[in-house]
Amino acid sequence: MSEGEFDLIARIRQRVALRGDVALGIGDDCALLVPPPGMQLAVTMDTLNAGVHFPADTAPADIGWKALAVNLSDLAAMGAQPAWCTLSLTLPQADAAFVDGFCEGFFALARQHGIALVGGDTTRGPLSVGIAAHGFVEPGRALRRDGARVGDDVWVSGTLGDAAAALAQWKADAAMTPGLRARLDRPTPRVELGRALAGLAGACIDVSDGLLADLAHLCRASGVGAELDAAALPASESLRATFDADVRRALQATGGDDYELCFTAPTTQREALEALSRALGLPLSRIGRIVEGRGVSCDGIGHAASGYQHFA
Ligand code: ADP
Ligand code: MG
Repeated sequence: MSEGEFDLIARIRQRVALRGDVALGIGDDCALLVPPPGMQLAVTMDTLNAGVHFPADTAPADIGWKALAVNLSDLAAMGAQPAWCTLSLTLPQADAAFVDGFCEGFFALARQHGIALVGGDTTRGPLSVGIAAHGFVEPGRALRRDGARVGDDVWVSGTLGDAAAALAQWKADAAMTPGLRARLDRPTPRVELGRALAGLAGACIDVSDGLLADLAHLCRASGVGAELDAAALPASESLRATFDADVRRALQATGGDDYELCFTAPTTQREALEALSRALGLPLSRIGRIVEGRGVSCDGIGHAASGYQHFA
């Protein structure tokens, strides 16, 4: 970018704290990192583009939060402990106020999960934020998509459909219900849950494109099918108060951007999972079962194809 690039990088860098597993952070050609011995490195990357993944007028702090949250959610879905990330920032102009706002949301969430920003790239172009995140998981304990077995329960964390409901309100030019909008702008990555599920769950995926679509990916990877009970899908009070049952069910089953974890576990783990739910203060709902065959059925609600697809 222009001269302004280095000012912007300096603004970001001043917010980064020193820590022992980062031998060399922002400022050189590469970061030098110190992985703990014996752990597997989990690596993921997600990009958010203005107008595609968030409304162009979203507050910079919310963009910073969400860009990191979606990557932490992928680490969570793998059962990995977050460690490091890099940030590719593309901005229409060298906008210090935007970067400061962005950093506010980004570092608020980064601190909560102990993830360190160790480098990145800053360029000019249409607003876009790409983050690569790295975490650790014990060998053999990662929550892969291919571990579901016939007879397992299907579970989901938290509530479904809130973010999609806010997006539907926004698209209809209606006022967004605050409780729903918060779920769209500031999703909560279920990192502690993911760590705790390593060893309990068979397979896991985060719900980014919609429950039916994401569970279908998991089923395909595992070579199984799933039957869901639409009445068991968890709904927030805000969603119940805002949409009637039919619309609500469709939002819960097919709406994206929830970043809850959907996972499978043998029926013998029910008590352990209920205890975990109490310990974390996070609802875990049993929403169906893994069956022989292919595909996901949910009391007649639209099928897997309804998930968000960029090139459809
Ligand atoms: P190079 O040209 O060698 O790639 P850059 O000028 O792009 O170096 O970046 C200088 C330093 O600042 C590097 O350490 C890079 O990782 C870091 N950096 C650049 N942009 C960002 C950003 N948006 N967030 C964090 N670190 C960044
Ligand atoms: Mg560079």
